Amino acid sequence: MVNLLDFDRDALIAHCERLGEKPFRAVQLFRWIHQRGVCEFAQMTDLARSLRERLPQQARVAAPPVANEQASDDGTIKWLFDVGAGNAIESVFIPEADRGTLCVSSQAGCAVGCRFCATGHQGFARNLTTAEIVGQLWFAEHHLRARLGLGADEHGHRADGTRAVDNVVMMGMGEPLQNYAALVPALRVMLDDHGYGLSRRRVTVSTSGVVPMIDRLRVDCPVALAVSLHAADDALRDRLVPLNRKYPLAELLDACARYLEAAPRDFITFEYCMLDGVNDSPQQAQALVRLVRERVACKVNLIPFNPFVGSGLRRSPSERVAAFADVLRAAGIVTTVRRTRGDDIAAACGQLAGEVQDRTRVAQRRAHVTMPLLPARR
Ligand code: SF4
Repeated sequence: MVNLLDFDRDALIAHCERLGEKPFRAVQLFRWIHQRGVCEFAQMTDLARSLRERLPQQARVAAPPVANEQASDDGTIKWLFDVGAGNAIESVFIPEADRGTLCVSSQAGCAVGCRFCATGHQGFARNLTTAEIVGQLWFAEHHLRARLGLGADEHGHRADGTRAVDNVVMMGMGEPLQNYAALVPALRVMLDDHGYGLSRRRVTVSTSGVVPMIDRLRVDCPVALAVSLHAADDALRDRLVPLNRKYPLAELLDACARYLEAAPRDFITFEYCMLDGVNDSPQQAQALVRLVRERVACKVNLIPFNPFVGSGLRRSPSERVAAFADVLRAAGIVTTVRRTRGDDIAAACGQLAGEVQDRTRVAQRRAHVTMPLLPARR
């Protein structure tokens, strides 16, 4: 039985054609699913009766089941989704004054194994399907609409034309560009005017630097791009982001520059997790300036590290973060310091600690290459 959340619009049209249905029927179906959040075919009243009766025998609309929900005092909501075989993934909704952001997972666990990341410490179980990626947005959007009492017009949008979720960041568990085949159809559903209708600027893929896939995304589905940088030299980045050994900084920055030719925004966002005594000195800020200046138009987002058991790392003191930001700003680089959200429910980035079975033994391999990063506490 197929899960219709696996299909972007073209794939749904092809599927309906195999059932002998015209493309406009597929568009109707697509809108019922994504704009109205309906999963019961019997409720899709403008579909031909014959199709309504046939669909339940061979198709379903199913997001992963919610295993747990936690709401933070600051309005952040974290959902734990059960993706089977003892694995769970997380999505986080972050309400702000002007928008609602959903942080979406792309894999159960992650094989990249960044030193400062709770997900990376758990190892890797498997790629999510398109249905499991889209299902996080499908559930969040329609659950929040119902919960907030938001009315919907005939297009499934709120009366004021906005949505509960109007910004998606692929920054949850996993490296999205290592699950490319499932990611791209999911992005297309998010962007589709008959789906969620999000602008390319409001959908961000965050990568640790899978260079060939950055080039493919530029061609296949250019959306906003965030790159996890975390160090300005290869020696340190090799240790913080092991993928750097395969795609070092020079190659990564060249790919970022190429990406800008097609990107919906005229800058790349560089994420930089501030680790006390590891990557947070003024000299390292200067090195970051030298690395990016005149090479890639960018913004830098400094992220307070969220400590977790076994990381062996500490959060940079706020005055050190401020000094680092000052160096970047003095060089003309737009720099933000991320406000931590949902701390009371462990929803902040790097704390997505669902249980993952490490089938590729990432954690074990990591243990062999782990080297001390921290100097003695100052
Ligand atoms: S930071 Fe991203 S790429 Fe690195 S281990 Fe965590 S989830 Fe994977």
